[in-house]
Amino acid sequence: MKPLTPKKSDKPTQYHCYDSCNKCGGVNSFIMTDSLEGHILECKTSCRDCGFNDYWAHGFFESSQEIESKCKKYSFDRG
Ligand SMILES: [Zn+2]
Repeated sequence: MKPLTPKKSDKPTQYHCYDSCNKCGGVNSFIMTDSLEGHILECKTSCRDCGFNDYWAHGFFESSQEIESKCKKYSFDRG
C-alpha cells in the first residue's frame, strides 16, 4: 500500500453547502454561530426533511467524518 497523499488531486476542494442536509440532501434550517463581514463561518444546522442535526464550520459538516456526505457541494474554480 502506498501512503495516502490527500493534497494530491487535480479536482478543486469540494465544500459543503450548509443549507443542504448532509444525511439526506434535504433542506436545512441553520442558526449562525459565527460570522465575519456577513459571511457565515459556523452554524448549527437542522434538516427540515429528516430532522438530522449537524454542525457546519468553515465549509464542512462535522458529520462527514462519520457518514457519507449527501449534501450539495460547491468549489472555487479558477476563472
Ligand atoms: Zn436530512
